[in-house]
Amino acid sequence: MRAHKTILVLAVAAGTMAAQAPKRVGDAALRNSGKSGEEWLVNGLNYGETRYSPLKQIDSANIGRLGLAWSYDIGPGGGTQEATPLVSNGVMYSVTNWSIVFAVDARTGKEKWRWDPEVNHAAVAPKICCGIVNRGLGLYEGKVFVPVIDGRLVALDIETGKPVWESRVAYPQDSYTLTMAPRVIRGRVVIGVSGAEYPVRGFIAAYDANTGREAWKFYTVPGDFSKPAENEVMKRAMATWDTKATQRGGGGTVWDSISYDPEADLVYFGTGNAGPWPADLRNARGKDNLYVCSIVALKADTGEYKWHFQLVPGDSWDYDAVQQLILADINIKGQNRKVIMQASKDGFFYVLDRITGKFISGAPFVKVSWAKGLDEATGRPIVNEDAYYSKTSGAVVEPGPNGAHNWAPMSFNPMTGLVYVPATSGTTFSYATDPEFELKPGQLNLGIVFANPNPGRGRGGANNGQAATGGEVATAQAQASEAAEKPPAPRAPNKPEPPTIGPDGPQGGILTAWDPAAQKPRWTVSGGGSTGGGTVTTAGNLVIQVLSNGLLRVYSADKGEKLLEIQTNLRTAMGPPMTYMLDGKQYVTLAGGQGAAGSGFGGGTASPITPKLLTFVLDGKAPLPEAPARQGRGR
Ligand code: CA
Repeated sequence: MRAHKTILVLAVAAGTMAAQAPKRVGDAALRNSGKSGEEWLVNGLNYGETRYSPLKQIDSANIGRLGLAWSYDIGPGGGTQEATPLVSNGVMYSVTNWSIVFAVDARTGKEKWRWDPEVNHAAVAPKICCGIVNRGLGLYEGKVFVPVIDGRLVALDIETGKPVWESRVAYPQDSYTLTMAPRVIRGRVVIGVSGAEYPVRGFIAAYDANTGREAWKFYTVPGDFSKPAENEVMKRAMATWDTKATQRGGGGTVWDSISYDPEADLVYFGTGNAGPWPADLRNARGKDNLYVCSIVALKADTGEYKWHFQLVPGDSWDYDAVQQLILADINIKGQNRKVIMQASKDGFFYVLDRITGKFISGAPFVKVSWAKGLDEATGRPIVNEDAYYSKTSGAVVEPGPNGAHNWAPMSFNPMTGLVYVPATSGTTFSYATDPEFELKPGQLNLGIVFANPNPGRGRGGANNGQAATGGEVATAQAQASEAAEKPPAPRAPNKPEPPTIGPDGPQGGILTAWDPAAQKPRWTVSGGGSTGGGTVTTAGNLVIQVLSNGLLRVYSADKGEKLLEIQTNLRTAMGPPMTYMLDGKQYVTLAGGQGAAGSGFGGGTASPITPKLLTFVLDGKAPLPEAPARQGRGR
């Protein structure tokens, strides 16, 4: 007995000491991120962005005991929440919409440090195309990497929050912003730029994690046609554009997902829409406009091009292909395939071979009308002629620019083989080219007319400018109302609405459990949508979903049975959920609430609910935020 006790005491002492010596966040830790589920070191939990946690202390049997453990007031400069917090060595790190970074004790929520990049709000806000937002941070070797919305990339000391270096990725004067989470790969910080609704040239670049020096840069669209192509990859792209088109921007920005396959040493990202939106303003009919609306693979070490797959050749509908890129090994028709998967803004779920870029399969996961389907061999869309629009004929198409799936994270559970996609189905959008379009340098240049804000079939969500990115529509409508003294341009009559394809079942905001091998939904429930909140899935057979209206819902991963619903009372501007384990307890964290200041221009409607970070645990007893005061009386 005595001997056993001694061993136990020693083991506890060793455990305490191990907890005191901070674990190094080096290459091996990043590569193994998510394998134990205890920490959450990288955006998406792992390099394959699965958001699958092997934790199972919280499971389908005990989920009803989930309660609040602690909350943290995100404070001034915190509006629309899109970031997923990171957890390392018992500390949680996250970032507000104005790029203010905070570190709190992951056990208690007690603030450790806070750092404000002091962005010039008044000067920068008019340069932000699609919502004042930030989707996350990176960690590596004692540093926190912060994408500041004004185009700076900053490394902070992980212990003190003091800046170590600052690098300039891009300038807001050139209409670029940074809104995506960086990806740290073998000592480099990889990040792309936002802003394709302004005239910009999209790119992704890598910076030395120690010094901030640029290591490589990859442009996604051509630049100046009066100069020779910069390389073979750009030469190939130039052949697919009208020579004057990129004077108007080009687009192809990289603003959400970056995933990484360490074995292949390939880094993957998606590219945004072409700009301006209408193909006729770029003379793009019959031209692919490479490499917009594409998934691209580069050699991570050098930035050298490996392959691309273009989802929407010659894009005319703002179908950014930047959504989350999940890497997994799945069995398809009896073969184990190394795949990359995307539930794209355009409404199709794509499965590609991630080594070669070859199309494996694709199918609509929501109602889709812009295309009749995808070519089975190549994955190229078979576009409905009635989905094209111009100065003389409008088109009512689904999905619209907010997308079937936007930034709200999906998750892949290898135990069920299902991808849980927060999506929006059955919403139409009316597109018509602005007959009076003139390029306005340094401003929003969508090139479409907003004269009729609610066309289509009267189903929810058409042209509703859903908050945040794609907040293009919200921003455009804000600008249109500011310019209200000028009468709206006449809009062309619509063509007949093209027929839809895609699954029946619940429409509007949904959560769909998609089988990527069969390209079919296994279950679908109402609630949520393409932006706002998102999902995480766990080995406890759970899908944890945050909805844009403040609800936290939990479903069984295999069958989609609703196991729990909590109204967090944050009500709006919700961020994605995440989970971690500390001192033997599994926690679930989310952020939400916008605050009176809101995110302002283009970011949706401000609300008085204080933005908060909430962390839940089994048998948590802390009180939830108070419900907002009833509105509407006397208003
Ligand atoms: Ca866009």
